[in-house]
Amino acid sequence: MQQIKTLHARKRIALIAHDHKKAEMIEWAVYNKTVLTRHELYATGTTGKLIEEALDVPVRKLMSGPLGGDQQIGAMVAEGKIDVIIFFWDPMEALPHDPDIKALLRLGVVWNIPMASNRASADFLMTSPLMHQEHEVKIPDYTVYVGRQV
Ligand code: PGA
Repeated sequence: MQQIKTLHARKRIALIAHDHKKAEMIEWAVYNKTVLTRHELYATGTTGKLIEEALDVPVRKLMSGPLGGDQQIGAMVAEGKIDVIIFFWDPMEALPHDPDIKALLRLGVVWNIPMASNRASADFLMTSPLMHQEHEVKIPDYTVYVGRQV
């Protein structure tokens, strides 16, 4: 049976930026500070530290990406603890934790998470009226996986 997940007006936003994308993420976050401060912010370690310094707002910091931070956020997505993902990943460089990055992007799709991988998409998300109100998201029917036997 299809599930409905209620996203509250105050969203739990995960922020992640790869090293060559961190400057862009900070610039974007400063530009969107007013909107971001209305929500609960989570981030991988280094990204979180930089955002916290730049915005002077608390950010719940997980481990650094290559040490498992992406996986921690992925686990939170699976547990329904993250509502939105802003992930500025680097399309020009191979990273050691590529499997973790792919895993997070995959889980974002599995759980129908509003997700932006670049600044233009992130701006669209931040200016959506749905960012500021309660909203119901449909989760696909995974009953077959939940109860499956092999
Ligand atoms: P970082 O991790 O914020 O700790 O740099 C991001 C990543 O590389 O996935």
